Amino acid sequence: MTARYGIIGWPLGHTMSPTLHNWGFGQIGLDAVYEAWPLEPGGVADFIRRVRTEPILGASVTIPHKRAVMPLLDRLTDRALTVGAVNTLYWDGDRLCGENTDVTGLTAPLRQLGPLPDSALVLGAGGAARAAVVGFRELGIPDIRIANRTPDKARDIASELSVRAVAWEARMDQGAGIVCNTTPLGMSGDLVQATPWDADRFEPGMIAYDIVYNPLRTRFLREAGAAGCRTVSGLEMFLHQGLAQFRLWTGRDLAEAGARALLLSILDSPGR
Ligand code: NAP
Repeated sequence: MTARYGIIGWPLGHTMSPTLHNWGFGQIGLDAVYEAWPLEPGGVADFIRRVRTEPILGASVTIPHKRAVMPLLDRLTDRALTVGAVNTLYWDGDRLCGENTDVTGLTAPLRQLGPLPDSALVLGAGGAARAAVVGFRELGIPDIRIANRTPDKARDIASELSVRAVAWEARMDQGAGIVCNTTPLGMSGDLVQATPWDADRFEPGMIAYDIVYNPLRTRFLREAGAAGCRTVSGLEMFLHQGLAQFRLWTGRDLAEAGARALLLSILDSPGR
């Protein structure tokens, strides 16, 4: 029987996950399909019942369900518990488990860069910012700070995860070695010309990490690159969180270069 996987979210909009995972199943010759499953808020308990009774072997979970699925699972990884969000459902024997591969996705491209600076600044205080803070902790970065337009949200994350909150207005005065944008500033649409960082405040040697991937080269990354910073795009995070999901579901590693080329071809396609 064909194994089924998919993604739940609302509104689901366009997602690159089906293309990535269906390509992956083809690469390893697995009889499996990955589908988009738009799921309204409130539908999570029914969905989890379906996962337990139908041949659904795994699922990606996106906004707004990342927290709602947590109490319905048999086990949560330490990482998912620390982040307070699940983006991946997988089976461990007969136990339905929840993991957060956004953290792996965030850290993997930084591990490839070699020795890292000892400070990181996270911009934003939503779900992705929580994953970023946990990721920087996993990387062993000793000095982690967080700044958000709404300061209370940064303070909450800072006290919960034992990092330092800084004022949004003072974010560029921090001298951080890594600056990670987790706000939608720079995303295609109304915000495409926006950036969370002034062009003249980048310093050579800084790492500028944008988790926005559409467009691929946001204004933040273009200006950072021009100022001599190393840059990491949100496509890398998306790629690595997907590769980590695929590994959890199949026990197999996909070829990173092939998967990246596939995602780049989607982002470059004229219909997007
Ligand atoms: P979220 O929970 O809605 O949080 C968004 C954060 O951005 C909030 O802290 C918000 O500040 C801030 N923000 C929004 N508009 C702003 C503005 N105009 N100026 C300054 N700050 C602003 O969203 P999320 O789940 O963390 O996701 C954030 C982004 O990451 C999305 O674009 C998402 O697509 C992307 N993402 C990418 C990946 C990947 O694999 N590359 C993975 C996950 C998420 P307030 O608290 O003041 O509202």
